[in-house]
Amino acid sequence: MNNLFEKLKKITGVMVSYYFICKRKLWLFARNIQLENENEHVLIGKQIHEESYSKTKKDITILDTINIDFINRKDKLILNEVKKSSKNEKADHYQMLYYLYFLSEFGVNAEGEIRYSKENKKKHIVLTEENKKEILLILDKIEKIIEGSLPKNIKTSRCTKCAYKDFCYVV
Ligand code: SF4
Repeated sequence: MNNLFEKLKKITGVMVSYYFICKRKLWLFARNIQLENENEHVLIGKQIHEESYSKTKKDITILDTINIDFINRKDKLILNEVKKSSKNEKADHYQMLYYLYFLSEFGVNAEGEIRYSKENKKKHIVLTEENKKEILLILDKIEKIIEGSLPKNIKTSRCTKCAYKDFCYVV
């Protein structure tokens, strides 16, 4: 088993997303301090996910590392993610790039689509050689963060809707 495979098994798509949202959130999540199920904003997001595209096969997990909402095939394999809104668009973009990168390392070529259900907006994502290098750098940075000490509380408007809000205000 090579180092890259070990790294890919350790870092999930959610962790890539949290890298862009909040480094502290990434650190907490990586240590299995998971409060997501208790947060009403997360529950609303899950409900939208359940109700969207209900006739399509959903929640496909690959190698216990990545979780894709659904897959369809046009002239290519398309991974699809359904999000509530585009407020975390950058995080969503890199999460999808990571999925595409992950699959490419196993010889599967795919493209991605992110659907923002409330905004009725769709974004198509293609993996390039340039962003493969970028993903590798991000994976290195994620490893350093999760092996380090607890990052500081960022105290932004994001905190009010974050599942770790209570934890951050008491530590
Ligand atoms: S409450 Fe704020 S600082 Fe704490 S994990 Fe969430 S976003 Fe990060």
